[in-house]
Amino acid sequence: MNANRFIAEKVAAVDVSGIRRIFDMAATMTSPMDLSIGQPDFDVPESVKQAAIDAIQAGHSGYTPTRGLPVLCERIDAKVAGEFPGWDPMVMVTCGVSGGLLLALMACLNPGDEVVYGDPYFVSYKSLPHLVGGKSVIVDLDDGFQPDPERFAAAITPKTKLIVLNSPSNPTGVVSTGERVRAIAELARKHDLLILSDEIYDLLSYDGRSPSPADFAPERTLLLRGFGKSYGMTGWRMGFAAGPQEIVTSMMKIQQYTFVCAPHMAQRAVLTAMDTDMSATVEAYRVKRDLVISELRDAFEFVKPSGGFYVFPKAPAKYASGTAFVEAAIKNNVMIIPGNVFSERDTHFRISYAADNKVLKKACAVLCSLAG
Ligand code: PMP
Repeated sequence: MNANRFIAEKVAAVDVSGIRRIFDMAATMTSPMDLSIGQPDFDVPESVKQAAIDAIQAGHSGYTPTRGLPVLCERIDAKVAGEFPGWDPMVMVTCGVSGGLLLALMACLNPGDEVVYGDPYFVSYKSLPHLVGGKSVIVDLDDGFQPDPERFAAAITPKTKLIVLNSPSNPTGVVSTGERVRAIAELARKHDLLILSDEIYDLLSYDGRSPSPADFAPERTLLLRGFGKSYGMTGWRMGFAAGPQEIVTSMMKIQQYTFVCAPHMAQRAVLTAMDTDMSATVEAYRVKRDLVISELRDAFEFVKPSGGFYVFPKAPAKYASGTAFVEAAIKNNVMIIPGNVFSERDTHFRISYAADNKVLKKACAVLCSLAG
């Protein structure tokens, strides 16, 4: 039997060969210096772990309402109201930001509807619209990896429905400027579009708060945030969406038949997480950011990152592509990701600095020696 015949064309068309090749190469490495992973190297705070344990012990193991535990929804409501005075969106708890993204795209896109986003981009922005029958429209970010309102405007057609913004960004670590986010928000108003704002790294912002389209056009913002990166709990699959009632209600309709609800014990634990001060962890990550940029500054060209835990340098000119540089790095025991995973171009590479400082220093020295 040829089981491939059962695979939907849309799924078969999603290409994972580039990243698979890199992971196949990496599988041959013994104890690599791993600067590839998109998850924090700190553990979940003890009090938050204990809250999850307590929830399990107390028998909180059944379904929750599709929308999320009412007490958690109220807590998220209060957080959103505190940050965006005057905005009164509907909130729901999602299974990570990935869950929120999928529900939002399923709720909003008819076949052929277009989603505009900047390059470089987080990988899911390319595959998810395609999987739900929509169309990706990719616009180059400017040289500082900021969204350029003119380029976004030029990409808008009668089929455009959504703009995706992501600040702080994966893979660049860049925080969008308020001026650019405002201009994109105005564009959304002018063309009657919805902005999906992926703010999964909002807490990890080192040079001031990352602006949100909800600051400028809250009525047409669907905010997606997560707890995985901020609290070291990527596997707990927790996030939330906040936005127009009609859209969130439609997302809930889909959640009811798919995810059903976010993990119950994790919802209880997130209540504790939201009351936990993470400033020491954020400061430790600012130090990592500073360490990496000072180690790489002389050997590489890159835009200074202000959030998340990524840097996206250009591959040195002596390498034919980002992938060629990554292959050289892997041969030298440093695991990084080629830029073409996040871009239509193969010119850069992504470093995740969510790693031990000694490993970071050693790995940066290897990368610099390869550039020299
Ligand atoms: N958006 C961005 C920009 C991300 O970097 C990630 C995780 N790498 C996600 C969304 C998905 O997050 P989650 O694990 O909460 O689904």
